[in-house]
Amino acid sequence: MAWLVRRRSGGKAARTAGEDMKVVVLGAGVIGVTTAYYLARGGAEVLVIDRQREPGMETSFANAGELSYGMTSPWAAPGIPKKALKWLFMHHRPLFIWPMISPRMWSWGLQMLRNCNETSYRINKSRMVRVSNYSRDALTDLMAEVPLEFDKREQGTLQLFREEKQLKASKADQDVLAEFDSPFEVLDRDGCIAAEPGLVHVADKFVGGLRLLADRTGDCRMFTQGLAKKAAEMGVKFRYGATIKEFERKGNAISGVITDQGRATADAYICCMGPYAPIILETIGIRVPVYPIKGFSITLPVTDPDAAPQSTLMDETHKVAITRLGDRIRVAGQAIIMGYNKRLTSRATETVRYVVSDLFPKGGDVSKAEGWTGLRPMTPDGTPILGPTKYPNLFLNTGHGTLGWTMACGSSRAVADLVMGREPEISFDGLTAARYGQ
Ligand SMILES: Cc1cc2nc3c(=O)[nH]c(=O)nc-3n(C[C@H](O)[C@H](O)[C@H](O)COP(=O)(O)OP(=O)(O)OC[C@H]3O[C@@H](n4cnc5c(N)ncnc54)[C@H](O)[C@@H]3O)c2cc1C
Repeated sequence: MAWLVRRRSGGKAARTAGEDMKVVVLGAGVIGVTTAYYLARGGAEVLVIDRQREPGMETSFANAGELSYGMTSPWAAPGIPKKALKWLFMHHRPLFIWPMISPRMWSWGLQMLRNCNETSYRINKSRMVRVSNYSRDALTDLMAEVPLEFDKREQGTLQLFREEKQLKASKADQDVLAEFDSPFEVLDRDGCIAAEPGLVHVADKFVGGLRLLADRTGDCRMFTQGLAKKAAEMGVKFRYGATIKEFERKGNAISGVITDQGRATADAYICCMGPYAPIILETIGIRVPVYPIKGFSITLPVTDPDAAPQSTLMDETHKVAITRLGDRIRVAGQAIIMGYNKRLTSRATETVRYVVSDLFPKGGDVSKAEGWTGLRPMTPDGTPILGPTKYPNLFLNTGHGTLGWTMACGSSRAVADLVMGREPEISFDGLTAARYGQ
């Protein structure tokens, strides 16, 4: 396959690590595209392969739009098994488990339950925060390098409590936020209204909130598509509409990747296939517990800008996020455990519709809402799986779960550095597949 177009050397006298290295990136979601960008920026020749017609068409398409540095936490936390039981029986429930005979699903679930203790939570959280904080800085640098329009705002996240006991329980989160130097403020009802004036119409529905001041918001698909365009200008090749079938091996290394449009070869390969990564990796003996956790979103037009959300608001009761993206409102949430099922029935988005109508009744037009469903690539410990594999030229950048948009720039910059033989700016300790014995 003659895809490699040599990048011009720019007249540099000496090559630095990674220059003119050939890399194939598998997947053009937010993770694959940011990886390709950092590789190209480092001087590598890059081909990105994806089965879709454009970048960002699967899980990165219509997520909640939160860049949640302050809310970077694993789902597996002490107390979650008890809460999960309650959620299963709520009318507008945040969690649904389809009873399936699936060893993969149950094994993933058991591993997650094993992480629901104080010790594991702290270890997992600190690993995730390492990637997330680095990602915040990496995105700041990237925005200075590349002007991109993605309906960005920098006004924090408001975690909204409908009940006094939620406000009290948030004390534990406040202690963790303070420990990890994440700026926050605890707000009473009036404080919440000052932060999100649209809530004035429903002041009797909540008691207070926790505001995470460093969080940002933005449209992940717009960012992914804008950055892909920029990467293409830098010389990155994109092969769309190509389904990846298998890896070719020679000795202990990967010698090529086979797609339904032919073969591609490179010096190194990076798997950024989101929830589908474990399927292809399993065929070459790499077992990573990344499981698809389905979620829903709707996107509706703003009808009254003052009555609409200004930033992101997380309804703690229903675990639904409501985000302002320019002249649109994105509402997303729910965790549905039912394998790779991506069906979007008319009733599926009932809960997210209910929550936005309940909290911002005058802000947007729910009758014009467009529905979407996506599969979060979740690991049982919430931490992505980054870096080396048993094949010296195959690397992973997957398993970002609920926080792939938040962590994209950091994890991709670190993985690109590692692949190009440069010293990554964060440690990979506890982030690699080695923690699963791989
Ligand atoms: C409802 C919902 C809300 C969310 N909200 C947030 C949020 O507010 N903030 C946040 O940080 N994160 C959020 N997330 C998570 C975030 O969207 C994901 O973690 C992130 O998009 C994962 O990106 P990815 O590039 O790994 O996967 P994807 O975007 O799915 O990209 C993988 C790519 O691989 C390609 N691919 C797969 N298999 C093949 C194959 N065989 N051949 C060729 N190509 C293939 C796919 O076409 C796809 O383009 C949310 C997720 C959901 C579902």
